[in-house]
Amino acid sequence: MTTNLTTGELLREGIRLLAPALAQPQLDAELLLAHALETHRARLRSHPEEGRGPHERTRYLELVERRVRGEPLAYLVGHKAFWSLELAVGPGVLVPRPETELLVERALALRPEATGEAADLGTGSGAIALALARERPGWKIAATDLSEQALAVARRNARDLCIGNVELLAGDWFAPLAGRRLQLVLSNPPYIPGGDPALEAPPLRFEPSMALAAGPDGLAHIRKIVRDAPNHLQRGGWLLLEHGATQAADVARELVVRGLSHVRSHRDLAGHERMTEARWG
Ligand code: GLN
Repeated sequence: MTTNLTTGELLREGIRLLAPALAQPQLDAELLLAHALETHRARLRSHPEEGRGPHERTRYLELVERRVRGEPLAYLVGHKAFWSLELAVGPGVLVPRPETELLVERALALRPEATGEAADLGTGSGAIALALARERPGWKIAATDLSEQALAVARRNARDLCIGNVELLAGDWFAPLAGRRLQLVLSNPPYIPGGDPALEAPPLRFEPSMALAAGPDGLAHIRKIVRDAPNHLQRGGWLLLEHGATQAADVARELVVRGLSHVRSHRDLAGHERMTEARWG
């Protein structure tokens, strides 16, 4: 005979299993249980005595087990908050990180105009392009990605969020923007050195390597973008790049060598120099 468990008991079981792997097991346990039961966290808290069947328990424990092995929570529940948006995500796209919001913040500060044209290179889930599009409905934003899988996720996000001013284009970095010059170009490209052991560990191990690894020093894609930027920026246009915590000086050098000016790096909330901006002309 299978004994049914209550919601509260399931939650405690999940917390116990997650505790060795996570600093804050309660939050993940609640989010996974709410997902498995197709309900909201608030309901778990207000009705801990609700009985749950063996299938619900199995579904929940499978998710808990995958989380213990390091799979990103966002892949397990299928969405992630970024800026003011709730984005659908899956294993075909990088999970948007809070530090990437810094690019959006700087873009809004540098370009207060109500209209203009921008591009987000390697958009993945569409996070940067969609956040900017939501804040600047009068701007036209091109979002490129080499991965068809990523473009499908970004397209779904644009549709679900009713954001109409993002144009999704297939291709490598600037390739789909031949002949076009923009006022603003943003990118969170791959920037992790290929041999970095972090790529083999959770959470990166579960994420697309084409969104993460970038040659021996991690700068291969940043160099390509910087090299082509002068062909795609209007005079006075800005390029904003996310990069690794130790790459600011190298990125600044590339920008200066290619003739960009007003080069300035910014720290994320963890205190790491996480992005660099520069102006063309
Ligand atoms: N910020 C991610 C990380 O280090 C990497 C993202 C990227 O390579 N663009 O976990």
